[in-house]
Amino acid sequence: MPVQPRADLHSLPSYVAGKTVPGAVKLSSNETPGGPLPSVAKAIAEATADINRYPDISVGKLARRLAEKLAVPSEQVSVGCGSVALCQQLVQAMCAPGDEVLFAWRSFESYPIVSQIASAVPVTVPLDAGHRHDLTAMAAAVTPKTRVVFVCNPNNPTGTVVRREELERFLDAVPSDVLVVLDEAYREFVTDADVPDGMDYVRGRDNVAVLRTFSKAYGLAGLRVGYFAGPEAVAEAVRKVYVPFSVNTLAQIAAMASLDAEDELFARCRTIVAERDRVRTELIEAGYEVPETQANFVWLPLGERAMDFAEHALANKVVVRAFAGDGVRVTISHPEENDLFLHAARSYRRTS
Ligand SMILES: *Cc1c(COP(=O)(O)O)cnc(C)c1O
Repeated sequence: MPVQPRADLHSLPSYVAGKTVPGAVKLSSNETPGGPLPSVAKAIAEATADINRYPDISVGKLARRLAEKLAVPSEQVSVGCGSVALCQQLVQAMCAPGDEVLFAWRSFESYPIVSQIASAVPVTVPLDAGHRHDLTAMAAAVTPKTRVVFVCNPNNPTGTVVRREELERFLDAVPSDVLVVLDEAYREFVTDADVPDGMDYVRGRDNVAVLRTFSKAYGLAGLRVGYFAGPEAVAEAVRKVYVPFSVNTLAQIAAMASLDAEDELFARCRTIVAERDRVRTELIEAGYEVPETQANFVWLPLGERAMDFAEHALANKVVVRAFAGDGVRVTISHPEENDLFLHAARSYRRTS
């Protein structure tokens, strides 16, 4: 008999990364377009002097800085190798085989994958007709086996948000032993004042956690660092299943340098937000349905035309992220790159 991996891994979907095509503009991974700030690049360069040493296994300095910023005790914070790693750690830390992980669909594609890796059962609730979380249906889908609920706010890939009142109603409805994880990977792009800061609930309730990342607004996708804030017992369990040393030294240093440079980074975010609103308006003028978005991307619910649209965009030197039969997600970038995409979108309507 040959060696055999776990039989159930056959049915596990692989994470599909946004494609990189030489010569084409990449609008498929929700990265920010600017390169590293000079201050961050300098900190990284200086930190290379120590890479013969292991990283700080506790990521202590960064965790303490984050705790201060978030106004919680540092025991409630865990830093991870990107927030996808933290999603996986969370499910591992919370779920025994057969326990349920609840989330909307379509949402972040890691949720079903990390659930299955942990032998938990992914349970999905369809988005509503406006491509938004249906929190009433999600509350009704909680069972005695539900251990974790992911609420992605803003939602990847639709960009839609849940607002304060509906979220509070949902949190009131969910049993106290179910952990609600607010995945706020795009928090820094939110401009709608009715979208709550998840940290308000981490500080006020015992079963709410927040996930954030340095990959999007902070521009460190290549270095892999994200963070969790939540109940102390969960933060501790998340640290228990951490792969030792996986947040590397350069990532830790770059994250701290980026916290020092928030003013500059958030100014960049504001230009992305202005572009987001322009791109959405122009797409609507061109005849597309585009849900209101609070993230650094737009969603085109093209259904069966999603793959065809993505091919057309690629022929026009623009890589977008298509989800077959569902829609296309397009990252907002510099004005010139956005214009290239808008040109592709307009010419698609003309030829089809
Ligand atoms: C991009 C993204 C993340 C995290 O990415 P990392 O690079 O692993 O930190 C998490 N959640 C959502 C919804 C995302 O879109």
